[in-house]
Amino acid sequence: MKLSGTQKLVKFFSSSAKFDMIKAESMTWHFTCSSCGNTASIWEIGGVRYKASGKPLVSIKCPKCGRIAMQSIKKSDAT
Ligand SMILES: [Zn+2]
Repeated sequence: MKLSGTQKLVKFFSSSAKFDMIKAESMTWHFTCSSCGNTASIWEIGGVRYKASGKPLVSIKCPKCGRIAMQSIKKSDAT
């Protein structure tokens, strides 16, 4: 998968072990598009989320329908 600018920056400043951790954590954060119901991880849309909690509202462009909206992102507890 191609890295976004933010992800490249994180990779540049992190060791590869740390980058893998950041990537894994970013992939557990998801949002559900309020327009089309598509679910995507923060990593898939080019974002990075690490050592974070809560359900913040962020402006996200849906990769499926292309609509930009404030979406609530949540961490899924993948076991
Ligand atoms: Zn959508």
